[in-house]
Amino acid sequence: MLSAKTALITGSTSGIGLGIALALAQNGARVMLNGFGDVEGALAQARRHDPGAIHDGADMSQPEQIEAMVRRCEAELGSCDILVNNAGIQHVAPIPEFAPERWDAIIAINLSSAFHAMRAALPGMQRRNWGRVLNVASVHGLVASVNKSAYVAAKHGIVGLTKVAALENATTGVTVNAICPGWVLTPLVQKQVDARALAESVDNDEAKRRLLAEKQPSLQFTTPEQLAALAVFLCSPAADNIRGTAINVDGGWLAQ
Ligand code: NAD
Repeated sequence: MLSAKTALITGSTSGIGLGIALALAQNGARVMLNGFGDVEGALAQARRHDPGAIHDGADMSQPEQIEAMVRRCEAELGSCDILVNNAGIQHVAPIPEFAPERWDAIIAINLSSAFHAMRAALPGMQRRNWGRVLNVASVHGLVASVNKSAYVAAKHGIVGLTKVAALENATTGVTVNAICPGWVLTPLVQKQVDARALAESVDNDEAKRRLLAEKQPSLQFTTPEQLAALAVFLCSPAADNIRGTAINVDGGWLAQ
């Protein structure tokens, strides 16, 4: 379905971003990965579907590196038709104890990076009159939780940014939408499970159960594969007129 398309997925060496990158590649897109950690492992998985998959090591807190990555995607893959703004980090503390450097890093990586990447990629999409921007926000783009000031602010920000970008492109073939997962068991969340297990003197399974029971009525984690299937759908012609939405995939979290 996406065989003539190219995709740049930020933060795609693990978790949700890797899941989305693999699904886009499986559906025919040529992909550029980004992120730290096990780059070779992620590339090896992507190359099973797209032998030409490449990786760019841009640090998403650095605007010039983001722009250079988009330019490299356009130069080496021929275009940047699908942009998935997914890279993200978390830090949990009450506001008086929240280190200002952590605030700045979360706003830069979870919010500003999406602006810089869109700023670089949208002109090409507009010229070709086809494009998809998928911003991986969170249920925390729509509701809050304690101790996540920077994360909730950044995710609310990216939902707003999604709406503006969608409106600016509303009469074109470029659509912009946000995906808002609830709990997904990735390294980002495993850290919170570990912290809970330690704080409440329970094992890993009980910590997971408590984490889910607090917010996610299905008591099931959303999977990267489920989010990836939604991303593929949003890139399909059936989604041509889905614009500026924030779609929650959250086991009922926001229904409460
Ligand atoms: P993860 O930790 O598995 O993956 C994060 C990715 O971002 C990795 O590839 C990492 O290398 C990359 N990254 C981090 N800092 C970077 C930087 N400065 N520059 C470039 N890459 C960087 O996390 P995940 O859970 O898959 O999270 C992906 C996105 O989904 C994030 O935006 C997160 O906020 C969002 N999200 C996650 C959940 C969840 O429950 N896991 C829920 C809602 C939203």
